[in-house]
Amino acid sequence: MSYSQVPRRPSQNPKRTLTKQLNALRNTALCLFTVFMILFCAFVFLISSIKKVSAKDEATPTTTAGETTTAPTSDSEGSEGSSATEAETTPEATTATTAAVAVRTFPEGTKLIALTFDDGPSQYTAQVLDTLKAEGIPATFFMIGQCVEGTDASILQRMVDQGCEIGNHTWSHATLSKVEYDEAIEQLKKCDDVIMSKIGQKSTVIRPPTGAGAKQKGLFDYARQNNQYIVNWNDSSCPSDWQKPANGDPEYTAKYVVDNAIANDCVLLHDVHKSTVDSLPEMIKGLKEKGFTFVTVSELLAAQSDLTVDKAIAGGYTADEAVAGPVGGVIGVRYVYSSGKIYIEQKLYS
Ligand SMILES: [Zn+2]
Repeated sequence: MSYSQVPRRPSQNPKRTLTKQLNALRNTALCLFTVFMILFCAFVFLISSIKKVSAKDEATPTTTAGETTTAPTSDSEGSEGSSATEAETTPEATTATTAAVAVRTFPEGTKLIALTFDDGPSQYTAQVLDTLKAEGIPATFFMIGQCVEGTDASILQRMVDQGCEIGNHTWSHATLSKVEYDEAIEQLKKCDDVIMSKIGQKSTVIRPPTGAGAKQKGLFDYARQNNQYIVNWNDSSCPSDWQKPANGDPEYTAKYVVDNAIANDCVLLHDVHKSTVDSLPEMIKGLKEKGFTFVTVSELLAAQSDLTVDKAIAGGYTADEAVAGPVGGVIGVRYVYSSGKIYIEQKLYS
């Protein structure tokens, strides 16, 4: 065969040979291009699949327990169902909305009371949660952002899992009546951000430190944008546990609250004082004996269906300023007690 090919070669047209070679080259290039495209498509498909899987993996810890925690996720049992739904949303969606809180309703005439703990979390907060769990009751925690930052996320997760409400008490316990608009917003936002980083949800209620700041527009704007209520407390049942005689005397603290509690009460306590934390078993026992049902602040507000503008006016605001009841979901709320009745004043800045 090789012999027969030899004479044939010179007889071939060089142009045809060149064309043939070019055709062969083109076909090879086409083949290579096709193979390259197939490999390229396979590569793109593979990369996008990997991205989808890793995005799924990352979404859960970011929106539930945060970066620094080994705590159970929000969709673990005991979170009253609502936070589980919230935990499955994307971080962006969670940031834009306030965490859903399971708000229970009660028959008319039920004597409700909301225990609230300010200025924590502290070294005693776990003990508060132990007591609340043993008694089977919720409470509301108005936390300082700086304290949240130094606290293990599992403590905050326990609050959620035990049906407690998460409250914002600013980043550094700033007196909001004394700061500028931007500073007020920053104080509230930083607090919510750190809570979010721990448990994947932010606060549902705000308590301005010292109760001051009722005319701080930043406070109201922030609360409105984030669907939060601003809540103070009832002075008449407050044992003033930051000073003597309540401070240092658990029995006094328990007795003071039990003796002065009224229906639909909102009790100001601090989980940074050991004597307050030690007073809780006796206090809760006494309140139960008096027929109180323990609720979160949001549950207390939800039960205030009889609020009227007239009552707000009675609290000192003009008709234009006063709007009663949780209107539109986001209004500033301030408790005022008069003649043994509870009033909620709301001031709008729209
Ligand atoms: Zn405080």
